[in-house]
Amino acid sequence: MGAELRSVTRPRENPEDREAEYRRYLQSQRWRTLAKAVRLRAKGKCEICRRADGRECAHLAYDRIFQEPLSDLLWLCRNCHGELDDRNLQ
Ligand SMILES: [Zn+2]
Repeated sequence: MGAELRSVTRPRENPEDREAEYRRYLQSQRWRTLAKAVRLRAKGKCEICRRADGRECAHLAYDRIFQEPLSDLLWLCRNCHGELDDRNLQ
């Protein structure tokens, strides 16, 4: 008893590691399952414009990446995905 709780926070990663990890994540079974669920929710249509067929699963928020709930994800057409990412980067 009396053992201190250790922080489980990983050491700061550099952005390149982060990006590589993200790219690996996009190949993972978890991501595929999530993307499929999002596509089914959207019934294949883009969830922003509702006109074009969706093509890609996009993050509405990146705060919970790697354990994001479906509510952080959108099924989008290329166009809307590009606009969303532009907005997130500003
Ligand atoms: Zn769209």
